[in-house]
Amino acid sequence: MSETNPVTSMAPSTAHTFDARAYAAPSATEPLAPTTIRRRQPGPTDVQLEVLFCGVCHSDLHQARNEWQSSMPTVYPCVPGHEIVGRVVAVGRDVRAFREGDLAAVGCMVDSCRTCPACQDHQEQFCEGPAVFTYNSPDRHLGGVTYGGYSESLVVDEAFALRVPDGLDLAGAAPLLCAGITTYSPLRHWGVKEGQKVGVVGLGGLGHMAVKLANAMGARVVVFTTTPSKAEDAVRLGAHDVVVSKHEAEMQKHLGSFDFILDTVSAVHDLNPFMALLKRNGTLTMVGAPDTPLPVSVFSLIFGRKRLAGSLIGGIRETQEMLDFCGDHGLTADIELIPISRINEAFDRLMKSDVKYRFVIDMASLR
Ligand code: NAP
Ligand code: ZN
Ligand code: ZN
Repeated sequence: MSETNPVTSMAPSTAHTFDARAYAAPSATEPLAPTTIRRRQPGPTDVQLEVLFCGVCHSDLHQARNEWQSSMPTVYPCVPGHEIVGRVVAVGRDVRAFREGDLAAVGCMVDSCRTCPACQDHQEQFCEGPAVFTYNSPDRHLGGVTYGGYSESLVVDEAFALRVPDGLDLAGAAPLLCAGITTYSPLRHWGVKEGQKVGVVGLGGLGHMAVKLANAMGARVVVFTTTPSKAEDAVRLGAHDVVVSKHEAEMQKHLGSFDFILDTVSAVHDLNPFMALLKRNGTLTMVGAPDTPLPVSVFSLIFGRKRLAGSLIGGIRETQEMLDFCGDHGLTADIELIPISRINEAFDRLMKSDVKYRFVIDMASLR
């Protein structure tokens, strides 16, 4: 593929658009490659960001490879990326919260209807509109679909741009925009607090943030991993105990003892051994998103009145609350910084659970 292979299905160039370099998946089976996309010129309430860092979420991989075909089919070309930290380079005339030169961050959403009950309740992720996700959602301005942060620039309504607290490393802060909020929100919603016993299943991007956040909330944290070599890191990240989930005897020791378990696993796996670890009235919440239905024993739910639940990112207000919490506690992701030319290698390593613990793209590598 040439250096700037034009994307054929993009909106026509007009005075209201500009071109931006990006990386896109041309199809489910081809690697990501350089391309050029079109962005809208900032409208009255928009901010234009120069993207500095973009985290690599396993959702980017699911979407680029059309692994969510039955629930969220991918429109190609697909420009992933929803863990974005950038510098404001232009603002619309009515923008109040940002000025040129400010830092700003964008997560998984770039718009919503703003009027439905979910939006009124600051839960824009559940917008009945529905929410406009940062990539692969219908683009209300240019037609086609939205393009994400694997791009040199992004234009977003200021209502969906967030403030990065002072003092946080910017590359390490980028993953907070998805991995951070996706784990913070369920920990808060299910009332995790000091002294509770919390399990985190899967030590990848989401899992390692869940460990840091649950630890900072005062919980006793146990990590369940399939990769024994991650045990030492789990403790360094804030886990009080580590269980290799394939070892039945280790699992047995924790039967009936958890208040809350957060499952961040990206692939099909057996939930039943984890249901057995919950206390009476305990909750296991799925944030990991394999596309295939997972069988659950009804008996594991009814004996102990247990709950199996799910959670989707978090609203904009709660995302700012999470960023501020991370600012107060000095929390960022443990990252491996890569140039964008290594994105396909990063995807392949994610498939092998070989990530410590989030890849972040240094977007200067695209300029
Ligand atoms: P990741 O960095 O690849 O981590 C996933 C971890 O799951 C792996 O590191 C591995 O941990 C474990 N794992 C992988 N395959 C497994 C298998 N076959 N059996 C058991 N464990 C396995 O991925 P991520 O970025 O954290 O994302 C995790 C999932 O959350 C993805 O499905 C993603 O799409 C989803 N997600 C959901 C939301 C939401 O709003 N609900 C938001 C963001 C992401 P160990 O090596 O420790 O076993
Ligand atoms: Zn994500
Ligand atoms: Zn709405």
